[in-house]
Amino acid sequence: MSQPSWDAIFVGAGITSLACAAMLVKRDPGVRLLVIDKHIVVGGYASTFSRPKQEAVFDCSLHKLSGMAEGGNLIRILRSLELEDTLDLVYPEDYFCAYQDGTPLPLANDVDDAQQQLLERFPHQAEGIATFFEQVRTYGRNGYYQFQMLEGTFEPDMAQLRFAHRHLKQKTVRQALHELFDDPYLIEILAAPGIYVGGYSEDLGYLYYLHVVYATLNRGNAYVRGSSQHLSNLLAQRIEQAGGQVLLSTAVDQVLTDGQGSVTGVSTRRGVFHSPRVYINASPHYAVQSLFAADVELAPTREKLTALKPARSTTTVYLVTDLPPAQLGLLHSESMLFPGDPGAGAELRMAAERSGYEAALSERAFWEMSPVEVTNYHALDPAAGLVVCINVLDSIAHWPQRRTEQYRAKKQRAGAVLVERLLSQVPGLRGHVLHTEVATPHTYVRFTNNTDGSGYGAMVSTDLSGHVFHHGFPVQGVQFLSAWVAGPSYEAAFGYAEMKARQWKRA
Ligand SMILES: Cc1cc2nc3c(=O)[nH]c(=O)nc-3n(C[C@H](O)[C@H](O)[C@H](O)COP(=O)(O)OP(=O)(O)OC[C@H]3O[C@@H](n4cnc5c(N)ncnc54)[C@H](O)[C@@H]3O)c2cc1C
Repeated sequence: MSQPSWDAIFVGAGITSLACAAMLVKRDPGVRLLVIDKHIVVGGYASTFSRPKQEAVFDCSLHKLSGMAEGGNLIRILRSLELEDTLDLVYPEDYFCAYQDGTPLPLANDVDDAQQQLLERFPHQAEGIATFFEQVRTYGRNGYYQFQMLEGTFEPDMAQLRFAHRHLKQKTVRQALHELFDDPYLIEILAAPGIYVGGYSEDLGYLYYLHVVYATLNRGNAYVRGSSQHLSNLLAQRIEQAGGQVLLSTAVDQVLTDGQGSVTGVSTRRGVFHSPRVYINASPHYAVQSLFAADVELAPTREKLTALKPARSTTTVYLVTDLPPAQLGLLHSESMLFPGDPGAGAELRMAAERSGYEAALSERAFWEMSPVEVTNYHALDPAAGLVVCINVLDSIAHWPQRRTEQYRAKKQRAGAVLVERLLSQVPGLRGHVLHTEVATPHTYVRFTNNTDGSGYGAMVSTDLSGHVFHHGFPVQGVQFLSAWVAGPSYEAAFGYAEMKARQWKRA
């Protein structure tokens, strides 16, 4: 069965595809767009799943949209799509609450207040704290407005750019924070926002990380009532209302070419769909491995992709409680749980990597000794149920294959360790957890085809050489459009989608 031609086809209905397609139909009404996804709902990670017996809806990713205050890029783009009023936005009071040994340290969702709170708790680190927040305000800000810088609408101070290039670009978060501070707990608290982009302090480039702090703390953050699925559904609706089509439960088997270096469409079990333009929302490693015919010369791209490392994956525990979590002592919408010996985690993770991710060492490093992020979804959106979610950045390398005894046993261990970490910090929750289920890095691969279960595209380390893998891609008309090229986060997805939509010209 052969179908009429589309102006563009999107392989995958993740948030970057949906945002770009929604912007295109707004800019160019009448454009014919086809979005295809193998899953049963739109959104990729920006989706939910339900457990009706538990009266629970679990958000697969979203806990914070960054850039949501005045001056934020994401709120500006959502306004341009006339979505702000339709989205029921919640602005939480806290950035996150840090917990160690059962002692909470809430950090306000306001940069000056958060700085003051850290100063009061760590007065012996006052000088470093002042320098750190100044770096966020200058270099973090410059990184945040990079698209505007390229467009010429944001003029940076050249001396600042030169300083950042010479002195900050080569440092990891771990190196830079150790130069500023000697209190290991403060270092871990400040490194924790790296979780939002899939990297620990030893993984991430400091300059990039400063922009993450700026985006999430200085430019405001919010949650969407109705969850990420609500946002994804609204975007899909826009596409369909404009005459586009969103085809679900349909895997793209191959991206088709004319044999002379130009794309012609895609093939699926539902037939062939034609288009001179194909946007690939799936992971690029997966795409070059599985989506092109053997005669397409992709060896140079594969070579470049060896330098593009996936960000960390996540192991997640979804919980349902019998009473509102706040009544049980989980007062904040987001918490970060730190171990008693906060400096040990990074050492153990690096030892785990050196060991080739030996299982017992990796479990101790990632699950027991690394920071754990906890979202109290009930505090953000009570309609989704009495839901709490625990996330820890993890590596797929120490997980056995799915459907094996070892895999099931390991899932149970992960659930037990992570839930216990929460209960030991917030003892009021003990005896009130009715339901738990665990998603592993393999679960993330299975649902999204993201390489190694990465939840955040490519790792943004100090080495950015792999990030240009798509330059000079040998098939004309193919473009990549995902966290792998945009950078992690919804805000990056919308920013990149906006740039792609601006470049749009009908073929
Ligand atoms: C646990 C977790 C928490 C997160 N929390 C936040 C947060 O609070 N705030 C934030 O800003 N970001 C967060 N992120 C990051 C954010 O969710 C991602 O960066 C973003 O959703 C990635 O979107 P994407 O467009 O790259 O597509 P993806 O979500 O990766 O979707 C890709 C889509 O392609 C489809 N696909 C793949 N192969 C095929 C094929 N052959 N045929 C058809 N379809 C295919 C998949 O089914 C999938 O739907 C989180 C991520 C995770 C994992």
